[in-house]
Amino acid sequence: MHATVSSGASAGASPGSWPALVLNADFRPLSYYPLSIWSWQDTIKAVFLDRVNTVALYDKAVRSPTAEFRLPSVVSLKTFVRPSRHPAFTRFNVFLRDRFSCQYCGTREELTFDHLIPRSHGGQTTWENVVTACSTCNLQKGGQLPAQAHMWPYQMPFQPSVNDLHKNGRLFPPNYLHQSWLDYLYWDAELEA
Ligand SMILES: [Zn+2]
Repeated sequence: MHATVSSGASAGASPGSWPALVLNADFRPLSYYPLSIWSWQDTIKAVFLDRVNTVALYDKAVRSPTAEFRLPSVVSLKTFVRPSRHPAFTRFNVFLRDRFSCQYCGTREELTFDHLIPRSHGGQTTWENVVTACSTCNLQKGGQLPAQAHMWPYQMPFQPSVNDLHKNGRLFPPNYLHQSWLDYLYWDAELEA
């Protein structure tokens, strides 16, 4: 199973904050990791601005002096947002491509970045030359080339597609997943399995 489903309080997006899962117009989440969610305040605003359809509701309602609204737990955008094909080259996305694990020893502790070809050897800070490494491995490799250090990454660094990152993101579900979200989160992962 991918996810621990909790209806109790937990870290991250707690049920007390009544977040809504935000789906694209094709009913896939806008993003998997971090999962696309909005606060209930933003969600209500978007409903009133007619930018989203309400797909599912919480039991929880909020009241104004004149009306009562049940809070949406899932909304879908009325206008399809085309996902960008090339994800931004950010620290977060490099970690996500490498599944938050050191590419030399596999640990998930004290993660940092290593230039496969060191900068002192002309290595660039690009998707193709930066890998996730723990500080111990980083120190051990130092300014050496992979062959000199006898250290090769599990996976050679590459420019990932948005799809690559989504695929990895599904391996790291958030702490809180409302029951009504599940239909929209893992169905395509199931088909791939
Ligand atoms: Zn390591």
